[in-house]
Amino acid sequence: MFKKNKLFPVTLIALFVFACSSGINLFNDSDEVSMGMQFDKEIRENPKEYPIFHGNPALKTYINNNIFEPIINSPEVKKSDAYSYQIEIIDNDEILNAFAVPGGYVYIYTGILKYLDSEAALAGVLAHEVGHVERRHSTQRITNAYGLSILANLALGNNPSQIAEIVANMFSGLSLLANSRANEDESDEYSIKYLMSTKYYPGAVKFFFEKMRDDGKVSSSSSGLQTFLSTHPDPIARINTTNERLKAMGIEIRSYTSTGSGMYREEYQKNIKAKL
Ligand SMILES: [Zn+2]
Repeated sequence: MFKKNKLFPVTLIALFVFACSSGINLFNDSDEVSMGMQFDKEIRENPKEYPIFHGNPALKTYINNNIFEPIINSPEVKKSDAYSYQIEIIDNDEILNAFAVPGGYVYIYTGILKYLDSEAALAGVLAHEVGHVERRHSTQRITNAYGLSILANLALGNNPSQIAEIVANMFSGLSLLANSRANEDESDEYSIKYLMSTKYYPGAVKFFFEKMRDDGKVSSSSSGLQTFLSTHPDPIARINTTNERLKAMGIEIRSYTSTGSGMYREEYQKNIKAKL
C-alpha cells in the first residue's frame, strides 16, 4: 500500500507520518455521511450476511423513538445535525453484537436484543456505538491505513471514487468492526456523557459486560457465538474503568441486577422482548 514514488512531494510524506502519529482525520463530515450511505447500501445488498429484521415494525420504532433518539438528542452528541443518525436491526439470534459505520448508521442484532434484559443495558450499547461515530473512529483508522494514498488524492482534488473503493475494501474485509482498545475505551467514556441527559442509568455501558461475566460467557469462546466481546475486548477491565469513572463523577455504582430508577427492566420485556 505504501508505494515509494519519487513524485510525491516530501510534504505529503511528512503529513503521512503526522497523520499516523497525531490522530489527525482526513475526512470531513460529508465524507463520513457518504461513506455511511455506501456501507448501508452494501449491508442491505448482502441479506445473507446481514438479514434485515422484517418482523414487527413496532420494535424498531420503539427502540428508535424511546431509546436511540434521546441519546442522539444529548447536548454531548455534537454531530446530530451533520450526520444521519439511524438504527437498523439485523435478524440473527446467534450474534450478540452491535456495530456502527461512519456518518451515524448503527446496527443491532436480534441476538443481543434477546440477551439483554433492561432498556438501560440497550441504551448503554447504543450510546457506546454512537461514541464510535461521534469520535470518528472508523475514518481515523482509514486515515491511518490509507494515509498516503488519500493524501495524494486530496492533493489532486476530491475523488469520490476513492471513498467508494475504500468502503468496498473495508466491507469485504469487515475491518470496520475492528476498533482499537483506545477506541473502545473512548466510546465507553463518551457513552456516560450521552446517557446523562436521558432517563437511563449513565453507567449502563457496563451492564452487558456484567451480565456476560455473571453468565460465565466472558472467559471462554467455546460457545462459538460471535459476541460483542469479540469486537469489544477486555470486559472486566472495562467494567472496572467504568466504575472508576462513575465514582469520580459522583454517580452511584449500580450493576445490571440493580433495581430502582434508570433500569427499565419491565419496559424492556413489554416493549422489546415481546416484539422479537
Ligand atoms: Zn465498540
